[in-house]
Amino acid sequence: MFVYDPADHIVEDTGMQTIGLIGGMSWESTALYYKLINERVRDRMGKLHSAPLLLYSYDFETIKQMQYTGRWAEAAASLAEVARRLESAGARAIVLCTNTMHKLAPEIVSGVSIPFIHIGDATAQRIRAKGYRRVGLLGTKFTMEEDFYIDRLRAHDLDVLVPPTEARADVNRIIYDELCLGVVADPSRHRYREVMAALVAAGADCIILGCTEITMLVGPGDTTVETFDTTAIHAETAADFAIG
Ligand code: GLU
Repeated sequence: MFVYDPADHIVEDTGMQTIGLIGGMSWESTALYYKLINERVRDRMGKLHSAPLLLYSYDFETIKQMQYTGRWAEAAASLAEVARRLESAGARAIVLCTNTMHKLAPEIVSGVSIPFIHIGDATAQRIRAKGYRRVGLLGTKFTMEEDFYIDRLRAHDLDVLVPPTEARADVNRIIYDELCLGVVADPSRHRYREVMAALVAAGADCIILGCTEITMLVGPGDTTVETFDTTAIHAETAADFAIG
C-alpha cells in the first residue's frame, strides 16, 4: 500500500522507520551498508521485505580535502545540512556511514530532532556485552589519534590501545590510498595482521575494525582475538531501528 502524506513526508507505508544514510565516505563501504542493512531486514522480516532508506552520498574527494586541510567547520555545516534534509525528506533516524566523521556528530545531532545512531556506541555496547574491557583500535589517523572516538569508547568503560606512530601511518595510508579506492592487497593485509598481533601482545583482548572499509581487508581469521566490524555492527543496529 502506498500513501502520500505531505504533512509527514511518508511516501511508502512499510511499517518500518525510514533510515537516512549519510554515505560516500567512501562509497566502497556505503555499498556494504546498503547490502548489510537489507540483508538484516530480509533475515528478520522474511518475504521480500527490504529496508526503507534515504541516502545522501558525498563526493569523497571533497570530504578528504576538508579533513586534510582542517576545514572541519565547513564539513560540519555540510553534514548538518544533509542530516536536516534527510529528516525533512522523511528519515526517522540518521546513520553516518563512517567512523572518522563522527568527529562532527555533535554538530549533526544539534541540527536534527530525530535519533542519531552513533557507530561508537553501537560498537562499544556489543563489546561490553561480550565482557571485553581492553580494545585495540584500528582506524584513520583522526580516529586513532584524536579524542572524539576514543573518549566515546571510554564512556562505555573500555580501555583503548592504539598502534604506535609508524603503524598508525601505515594503517591510515592503506585506508585512503587503497581501500577507499577498492584496492584490497595482500601486502596490506599482512601489515594489518602484524599491527593487530602487536596490539594483542600489548594486552588488547579484542580488536575494533574502526574504519568502515577495514572489513574489506581483514576479519576474524586475521588475528587471534575477536574482531568487531563497525560496518556490520552499525548496519545491523540501523536495520533493527528500522524494524522497531
Ligand atoms: N570510512 C572511514 C571511516 O570509517 C574513513 C573515511 C573517512 O574519512 O570518512 O573512518
